[in-house]
Amino acid sequence: MHNKFYLMKIILSLMKGFAVLGVLHFQCRASRLPFDASNLAMTYTALTSLLILGDDLSRVDKSAIINAMKYLQKDDGSFTQTYQGMESDMRFVYCACAISYMLNDFSGINIDKVVQYIKESQSYDYGIGQGPGLESHGGSTFCAIASLYLLNKLDEGLLSKDKTIFWLISRQESGFQGRANKPPDTCYSFWIGASLMVCFSYLLIIVYIIPFLCLFIVNYSYYKLKILDSFEFIDYDQNYNFLMTTRSFGGFSKWPGSYPDVMHTYMGVAGLSLMEESKKLDPALNISLKARKNLLKCVFKSE
Ligand SMILES: [Zn+2]
Repeated sequence: MHNKFYLMKIILSLMKGFAVLGVLHFQCRASRLPFDASNLAMTYTALTSLLILGDDLSRVDKSAIINAMKYLQKDDGSFTQTYQGMESDMRFVYCACAISYMLNDFSGINIDKVVQYIKESQSYDYGIGQGPGLESHGGSTFCAIASLYLLNKLDEGLLSKDKTIFWLISRQESGFQGRANKPPDTCYSFWIGASLMVCFSYLLIIVYIIPFLCLFIVNYSYYKLKILDSFEFIDYDQNYNFLMTTRSFGGFSKWPGSYPDVMHTYMGVAGLSLMEESKKLDPALNISLKARKNLLKCVFKSE
């Protein structure tokens, strides 16, 4: 317990630097600052870490983060991770959307530009790349779909939901690959699995649950559809067996026969969590349902 509060204190002290420096850096372009510039990806991980640790985010300077974020969006709708950063792509679009969602404030984002950027990043095969004209990729497809979901723009942003779902489903060999003609890799159990879950859960609400509420006694099939696993088109056993072949020394590796690493261990566990009947993971924010419950209670003031 003592370690938990010590960790919270470290994260909050770092966030104070991130949030304020995000604004300061804009005002003092030429100055050398004593700390690193604020960083979207680090802000996302700091907020999720605080939620996982049970923090209520009351000590986070929310307006400083939202204001700093305004300087990170480019004209094409994408985000850089730091002020005047060299890279801008779908990863940081996702970070901006997830941060805004967790802080319950989207005023730091030009939403129309984000939606347009995601539309333009959809490829001929309806997978989504890191940016316009780039190859469809499981990671960037997750970032785009989760961003649209958090913005409540899934219908508007996906050119063809069915074709994107088909692209996602087609990534399964035994486990999931990130791109066509690549070998399966542990982490895509999450990137592809979470994308499918976001797409399907949205479809289930629109297509099945609302009619179900109207017709639940008359038509039993709606009930059946509602309770179907979101992974009805996925071969769960094959993916499970693949993941087990990448397990060694207590963790998961990228491929069978490789050494495990922290990222693929987390993604392997996250992928399994999505496919378990209990579904202990929020696919759009990539946090546990326990952490999400904490977010709903503390930020959205609902149980
Ligand atoms: Zn990987």
